[in-house]
Amino acid sequence: MADLDLLLEELVTANRILAHEGVVDGFGHVTVRHPQRPDRFVMSRARAPECIEVEDLMEFTLDGTPVDPKGRKPYLERFIHGAIYEARPEIMSVVHNHSPSTIPFGITAKKLRPLMHMCATIGHELPVWDINDKFGDTDLLVTNMAMGRDLAKTLGNRPTALMRGHGCVVAADTLRKAVWISIYLELNANLQMKAMAMGDVKFLSRGEVDAVMARTSGFTVDRGWEYWCRRAGRSAGTLEIN
Ligand SMILES: [Zn+2]
Repeated sequence: MADLDLLLEELVTANRILAHEGVVDGFGHVTVRHPQRPDRFVMSRARAPECIEVEDLMEFTLDGTPVDPKGRKPYLERFIHGAIYEARPEIMSVVHNHSPSTIPFGITAKKLRPLMHMCATIGHELPVWDINDKFGDTDLLVTNMAMGRDLAKTLGNRPTALMRGHGCVVAADTLRKAVWISIYLELNANLQMKAMAMGDVKFLSRGEVDAVMARTSGFTVDRGWEYWCRRAGRSAGTLEIN
C-alpha cells in the first residue's frame, strides 16, 4: 500500500484507540496533515470515532473547506484543526477532545502540569483558551476560522491547550505521538485531581519535562501504539514513524 493508504488506516486506528481509551466518546476528533499536500488535512465525516472507517475520511483545505465531500457531512469543529495546521507547519496531527479529567482545569485557577514521567509530553503547563473572551456568549463550539485561529494563538508552540468549559487540543509532529499525548493528558489530569485532594503536589521540574520530551522517541511511542492497537482490536501497522 502507498504511504497515504497506510496513514489513512492509521487514522482509523487512532480514532478507535482514542475511543477505547476513553479520551473521546461519541464526540471529539483526530486528524492528520496530508503527507503530499501540506495545504490539506484528512478528517472523518461527522461520526463517532469508534465507528469510523476509511471510507469516512475526507480531505479539507486548511480553511476547513471539504475537497470532495461526496454528500458526507463534515464535523462542525474542523476549524480547530485547520487553524493549527495553518499556524504550525511542523504539526502533522491534531486531536480535539472533551477528555473528562481535563475539564476541571479549564474552569478553575488550578494549572494542569505534568506530575509523572510518562505525562511529560503534555508540556510544561497548559494554557486555557476561553472562547468568551473574544466571542462572547456562544454554544462554545469552534465553528469558524476566526475562532480556530484565536485558539491556535493561545496554543502557541505548545503541544496542548485547554478550552474553558469544553475540552482540549493536542498537536504533534506525528499521529502516533498525538494519540500518546492525548492519552497521557487524560491520565495526568486524573492523577493531578487525586494528588491535589491529598495535599501539595510536587510536579516535574522544567528540566525533567525537557529531558523526558527529548527521550520520547519513535520507538517509545511505537511501543505504546502497539499496546493500544491490541486493546482496540486493530493491527499495529507498519508505517515507520520517526
Ligand atoms: Zn468539541
